[in-house]
Amino acid sequence: AELIKNGHFVGGPVVGQFETALKDYTKSAHALGCANGTDAIQLALRAAGVNKNDKVIIPDMTFWATFEAVVNVGAVPYTLDVSRETLHLTLASVKEGIEKFNPKALILVHLYGWACPETMEIRKLCQDKGVVLIEDCAQAIGTKVNGESLIGTAAVATTSFYPAKVLGASGDAGGVFFQDAKVAKDCQILINHGRISHYEHGMIGWNSRLGAYEAMFMLESLKHLDAKLESRRKVCARYRAEIKHPALKFIAPANNVWENGYLSVAVMDPQSRPAFGEYLKSKDIGFGMIYPGAMSEQPGAKDFLGGKISHGHADWVAKSVINLPCFAYMKPEEVDYVIQTVNSYK
Ligand SMILES: *Cc1c(COP(=O)(O)O)cnc(C)c1O
Repeated sequence: AELIKNGHFVGGPVVGQFETALKDYTKSAHALGCANGTDAIQLALRAAGVNKNDKVIIPDMTFWATFEAVVNVGAVPYTLDVSRETLHLTLASVKEGIEKFNPKALILVHLYGWACPETMEIRKLCQDKGVVLIEDCAQAIGTKVNGESLIGTAAVATTSFYPAKVLGASGDAGGVFFQDAKVAKDCQILINHGRISHYEHGMIGWNSRLGAYEAMFMLESLKHLDAKLESRRKVCARYRAEIKHPALKFIAPANNVWENGYLSVAVMDPQSRPAFGEYLKSKDIGFGMIYPGAMSEQPGAKDFLGGKISHGHADWVAKSVINLPCFAYMKPEEVDYVIQTVNSYK
């Protein structure tokens, strides 16, 4: 009612209020709202100076939006394999990628509500080598490394507020975070048609503005975010501690990482996963497979992929990963049911 009364539909004070709340929550120097998490990556790439035909290295295990964003800004994606142990990039793989491809930028993706275990080392390497680093934190709002906000300590980070993420809007929305004031300013210009004044356009941007309704919705949700993360973390921790089945190997984030509880992650022998999935379905237990295919293997990749370093690990992860139910305020009895059902799988 307040938004309608004031005619605040796009922009308006509530967007600024949400951006301030987001900045405070993530402890980043500059936080901007935008239309969705994919735009957030495109905006970050553009604002950080990635241009046409620049090479950008990305992990082969991520959501397709990471790949798309690179192509959509006219740059060329190169995929790097991930580790079978941590399911993320490693310092060694990034080093090899930089040597082999001499990229302009790296998109480091933090999956499952964790942080890539070698984030600090990778940040330093990129700085030393002059590689622009963008961190895709679509799944990692609230995640901490060494007690500090992952997003807040990144030079450039992006997130998604798609409703199924840990901080969801009621529709599509995204966020971009910067340390540098000038880059943040350029990003703000890109979000709003390259505007430097109302009818003066200093850049080719697009319309990626955050709606006032979504900003207000998330301003309310932010108040509950810590409680939600706490309840999710408990579910992940209980599965890891209480599921004792030889077919499932649970993977935990690194010791210095404080997960936000986005997903529970286990791997199993690719050959036994389909039957286990059928068993869960027969017991009315939902599950995910984040993600069931490597980026470089997607049908849409072949005309755009610049190159890849692959040891088959991303493929193996795609065939092995399984995510048991995990959501905010999941009831202890529901968690008990999943644990008992999995433990009694024959
Ligand atoms: C969800 C997600 C995105 C894209 O976000 P949208 O808001 O759906 O555009 C990008 N990267 C990762 C890793 C994601 O999980």
